[in-house]
Amino acid sequence: MARASQITMCSFCGKSKAEVKRLIAGPGVYICDACVGVCREVLEKETQTEGESPVRVLKVPKPAEIKRHLDNHVIGQDDAKRTLSVAVYNHYKRILSKKEGAKGAADDVEIEKSNILMLGPTGCGKTLLARTLAKLLDVPFAIADATVITEAGYVGEDVENIVLRLLHAADFDVTRAQIGIVYIDEIDKIARKTDNVSITRDVSGEGVQQGLLKILEGTVCNVPPQGGRKHPQQEYIKVDTTHILFICGGAFVGLDPIIQRRLGRRSMGFGTGTSVEQRTGEFGEQSVARKIEPEDLLSFGFIPEFIGRLPVIAILDELNQSELCAVLTQPKNALIHQLSKLFALDGNELIFTGDAVQELAVQAVRKKTGARALRALVEKLLRDVMFELPSSDVTSVVVVNGAVVRGEALPLISKRPDQAAA
Ligand code: ADP
Repeated sequence: MARASQITMCSFCGKSKAEVKRLIAGPGVYICDACVGVCREVLEKETQTEGESPVRVLKVPKPAEIKRHLDNHVIGQDDAKRTLSVAVYNHYKRILSKKEGAKGAADDVEIEKSNILMLGPTGCGKTLLARTLAKLLDVPFAIADATVITEAGYVGEDVENIVLRLLHAADFDVTRAQIGIVYIDEIDKIARKTDNVSITRDVSGEGVQQGLLKILEGTVCNVPPQGGRKHPQQEYIKVDTTHILFICGGAFVGLDPIIQRRLGRRSMGFGTGTSVEQRTGEFGEQSVARKIEPEDLLSFGFIPEFIGRLPVIAILDELNQSELCAVLTQPKNALIHQLSKLFALDGNELIFTGDAVQELAVQAVRKKTGARALRALVEKLLRDVMFELPSSDVTSVVVVNGAVVRGEALPLISKRPDQAAA
């Protein structure tokens, strides 16, 4: 039998003891320091891509659970919530199936990514829905504005900056960013100019659509870590957008007449024109939007490939008065709860009476900016109180009633009962 000292060479690379710095002995085998290094690298890479992969820890609730969660945070929008719950469930199931190897699913079936398009007026909860979904799934979330993206060569932002925002949200953890959610607001503003839509920007939307198309469908993009325009000498971070869920939203002003026209034309062709015209007219704008077809988006100014990348369409409605009341009081972090908490931190109590809530909703409806108006209205009402109360020696109860909201009275301030007794 050969003695160990005679065969001391690395069992992996074959180098002799003299050629390496260290040679570690195992039972009948040897490994050199260089091979240990290579093995460590291999293991580290595997850990990065698999072991600690955020995909592994991804928990995907069932659509009904997702919907229930959304109900706790977002008022109304039942239809959109259902659509989103299913789309988000399918999206993350698709990612999990790719990583784990789908159980029972045909291997040759490729499930395509389905990004989401949300149509709804301003302040109706589009951004809130996207954000709430990301929180539930515990994935990074970023908001981008389509209007600041311009075609290469124009002053503005490259599409890669959208991905950069997500990287920021993921603390530059690329693998986590790659399963995140991006909400792109004002997507309707990058429609090509048509007779039907008036947009103020003069850079052709089509080029921006082309640029966005790539990240929407999935590409490995080079993200400049400092943001701004790409620079030849800059180092880039490579991010694969294949599993990033893009939710695009917009108010799509000018889309209704396009749908109406198509419905009118069609129905006349089939001899049912009057009834369809009357129905859409009667039910108003909300119901017209629900009849949307991809061809309407084409008429609106989107290129077919872009429309193809947003196959899931969710329609959101304008919030009515009672929904606006609910926005103020019902969600877990409703505006009034937030303000009450703020007051409580100083020992004060804030009370909004029922008629104050009603009156706020009435005023918000008039402003036509959905729930966005509520915050501004409430902040304005309470500004002076919030200025003065922190300097007071006593803690107080502040009551806001309908008259205060109508501007007929000032908020009623009294000493807290425990203070009054003291
Ligand atoms: P947009 O549809 O313009 O994206 P947002 O989601 O940004 O509107 O809404 C602005 C704010 O109004 C939100 O932060 C939220 O406080 C409130 N809000 C809007 N819609 C709803 C809703 N349906 N339910 C609860 N709060 C809402």
